[in-house]
Amino acid sequence: MRVAGLAAHKSVERLCQQVSEFQPDWAIIGCDSVSVPSSAVGRRTRWYQGFDPLEALIRDSQISTVVCAMVGAAGLPATWAAVDAGKRVALANKESLVVAGSLIMKRAAETGACLIPVDSEHSAVFQCLQSGRRDQMRRVILTASGGPFRGWTRQQMLSVTPEMALKHPTWSMGPKITVDSATMMNKALEIIEARWLFNLRPEEIAVTIHPQSLIHSLVEFADGSVISQFSPPDMRLPIQYALLFPDRLPGPARQTDWTQRHTLELIPPDLDAFPALRLGFEAAEKGGTCGAALNAANEIAVERFLAGNLSFPSITHIVQDILNHHKFDAQPSMSQLFAIDRWAREEASRWKL
Ligand code: MG
Repeated sequence: MRVAGLAAHKSVERLCQQVSEFQPDWAIIGCDSVSVPSSAVGRRTRWYQGFDPLEALIRDSQISTVVCAMVGAAGLPATWAAVDAGKRVALANKESLVVAGSLIMKRAAETGACLIPVDSEHSAVFQCLQSGRRDQMRRVILTASGGPFRGWTRQQMLSVTPEMALKHPTWSMGPKITVDSATMMNKALEIIEARWLFNLRPEEIAVTIHPQSLIHSLVEFADGSVISQFSPPDMRLPIQYALLFPDRLPGPARQTDWTQRHTLELIPPDLDAFPALRLGFEAAEKGGTCGAALNAANEIAVERFLAGNLSFPSITHIVQDILNHHKFDAQPSMSQLFAIDRWAREEASRWKL
């Protein structure tokens, strides 16, 4: 396996480090206002800027696998290009499916693109599904750590600051997904992601709080047998699985220490304290434009919360309001989804308590 190309939006320093480590054929900066450092030019790697060269390279016939690991709906155009070109797509960008799941899955079926989830819960479901036929599956159970405010009441959550929300008990992740995890909007996004990825009805999806983050999700089959995927929390495992499926090889991910005692708790979620979960089920049920509206509203609400001009519970209030008031369409086109996305962002920016 060889890294053919690497792309980043603005993180030039990180990209340069990775380019010097992996020596890819090409590297791309997505953002037009960030320049390529002169020290990076002239070496083995060719540098490009903007989305058009990125799309051309994603579609290049020599590329077999595309890893989509952007944050937010901004990842959708690149995911679409990879699916449209029939690639194997290792998908870490859950928002692509949340926003445009129906279109992406339909196109993947047409082009033969193989979508393998990197999101740890969905990787777990994908792995569990290997032990039975799809038509023998009764339900998918997504695990959630519960985030830093597990067990808190709505009242207590009024006082949550960005600093508090950014301290996740078991996973070290970027700021956006860490806040999503604290509101449990991340699980709402994952309910919608699972709905499209595995073609599930909402009643075939359940959520359980599992504070130890050792079981990454479960699948219940028709005979009542429940298969789970268990491993220490370490994203290197689902990334490796998506790249090497169906092979399993020794890798760098942390291993289970069987000399230690492990306690596994599985607790039903508190939907009153975390209303975001209900919104996830609602958007999964209605489908259409709901995912696009929910996701865009959430992206802006999280930005505003991190900037200090929104309370923690207001994140979910905004999302609920915008979801309820958006112009719903059950079978939207891609351009309609982008229009809903823009509209929801504007509304969420303006929204006042
Ligand atoms: Mg996840």
